[in-house]
Amino acid sequence: MSDNGRKQIAFEHRNEQLEDRFGRVARKFRISVTDRCNFRCNFCMPIKPVWLPKSEILTYEEIVRIARILAKMGVTKIRLSGGEPLMRRDIDKLISMLRQIPDIKTIAVTTNGFYLTEMARRLKEAGLDSVTISLHSLKPERFDEIVGKQGVFERVMEGLRVAQELGFDAIKINVVIVRGCNDDEILDFAELARKTGLTVRFIEYMPFDGRKFWQPELLVPGEEIVRTIETLYPLVPLLREQGSTAQIYRFADGIGGNIGIITSMTAPFCSDCDRIRMTADGKIIPCMFGKDEYDVKSLLRGGASDDEIASFIRHAFWNKFAGVETLLKENQIVTHVRPMYKLGG
Ligand code: SAM
Ligand code: SF4
Repeated sequence: MSDNGRKQIAFEHRNEQLEDRFGRVARKFRISVTDRCNFRCNFCMPIKPVWLPKSEILTYEEIVRIARILAKMGVTKIRLSGGEPLMRRDIDKLISMLRQIPDIKTIAVTTNGFYLTEMARRLKEAGLDSVTISLHSLKPERFDEIVGKQGVFERVMEGLRVAQELGFDAIKINVVIVRGCNDDEILDFAELARKTGLTVRFIEYMPFDGRKFWQPELLVPGEEIVRTIETLYPLVPLLREQGSTAQIYRFADGIGGNIGIITSMTAPFCSDCDRIRMTADGKIIPCMFGKDEYDVKSLLRGGASDDEIASFIRHAFWNKFAGVETLLKENQIVTHVRPMYKLGG
């Protein structure tokens, strides 16, 4: 093939979006950078986790190579997660490497907040745009109990304060509501949003807990969370951004801060899902509720070209599971697929 022919293929390839058989297009890439974590949240981690061997975990160069390939196919947003992403050594280096990819517009991180106080500035300087901090209780003792680590609540709150002072483009709070554990704090979290002006996102408890304790009775539906908040603070739904996991509401009285409700279990937004995920050991996961995983690490380490990797990812994404919505419509039970700490959320 002539050089011109090759250039033509590369050019066409660049303009081809990453699309699945239902017409959904990938725009957001969630990368789990490690499965390791210093917390043991009871809805996420098994009691005795078995970590991936270090040799199985993708290097920063390998992660960036995949991100570049995806950016050429239309991905514009990257979220780093884990395990605890800030436990990965020199994570700021990865952020600055990803920042060099011209088509990537936003880089976000989801963190337990433990290392934020000392790391937030470095992360910001490396080019991090947005931070989501998981905070599952505003009661210190309960918080410690949920995350399985003593005396950490104040430290996480301090991390949140430092992040706020640094002025990231967006700071959000994630709270997983579990019936009988923290569902009595829904109004307290709504008040936190009002006081701080931050977006507090309530996440429905999913059956991806490492301990397999999940039962339908423990799930607090998003609708109930909204009703509870509205007993004191009426809400107004905002127009949902395409591909967003959350329905966002503002407070009707105009007081600052928003509420996000992530109804992955009761009213999921599968039809315009624009996410693709990768585990720390290089498995492409087109849908978190689907069992399919595609091992891109063996291509990366087996000398495959970018075009070969792109075709492999295209094939994986084309076959993306229709989504949890279809299970719900058919009254099928959603079951444990893989634990959240391996998936990255
Ligand atoms: N360690 C980081 C953290 O906790 O933010 C990032 C990884 S964590 C797996 C990503 C998100 O998944 C967090 O917001 C966490 O609260 C949420 N999560 C974990 N287990 C969950 C479950 N069983 N159901 C719903 N969300 C869960
Ligand atoms: Fe760690 Fe995050 Fe899972 Fe908690 S939710 S155990 S902080 S990975």
